[in-house]
Amino acid sequence: MSADCIFCLIAAGSIPCDKVYEDDTVLAFQDLHPQTPTHTLVIPKRHIPCLDDLNENDRNEAGHLLERVAHVARTLGLAEKGYRTVINTREHGGQEVDHLHIHILGGRRVGPMVSRPGI
Ligand code: AMP
Ligand code: ZN
Repeated sequence: MSADCIFCLIAAGSIPCDKVYEDDTVLAFQDLHPQTPTHTLVIPKRHIPCLDDLNENDRNEAGHLLERVAHVARTLGLAEKGYRTVINTREHGGQEVDHLHIHILGGRRVGPMVSRPGI
């Protein structure tokens, strides 16, 4: 746990959240500033700063995390129509909270990933 990480504090119960799902290693809660009618974050309870910090020793934990993302999306009623999952990594990825999290965005059709042509 990192004492100055807001998601670690949420995982520890020190900062409240609108909890959707919890088990020994994973927590899911509603995003504070939803971008879609349903906007949920799924995090490992353990402090992992970003996707790039995963390594081969984390395969079981990462696999469980991803499977739980699908589970949470199903329990939220999003699976039939579908949803967008997003993982932002570091500066160019637009990551604002440096604790690995997977966004689940659903409840409406989400637009194309790239809104204008070119790179
Ligand atoms: P990212 O830009 O991928 O790092 O996304 C961080 C997300 O965390 C944003 O969508 C924020 O709205 C969300 N967020 C920040 N603080 C909180 C909080 N205390 N509870 C719930 N969501 C939060
Ligand atoms: Zn953390």
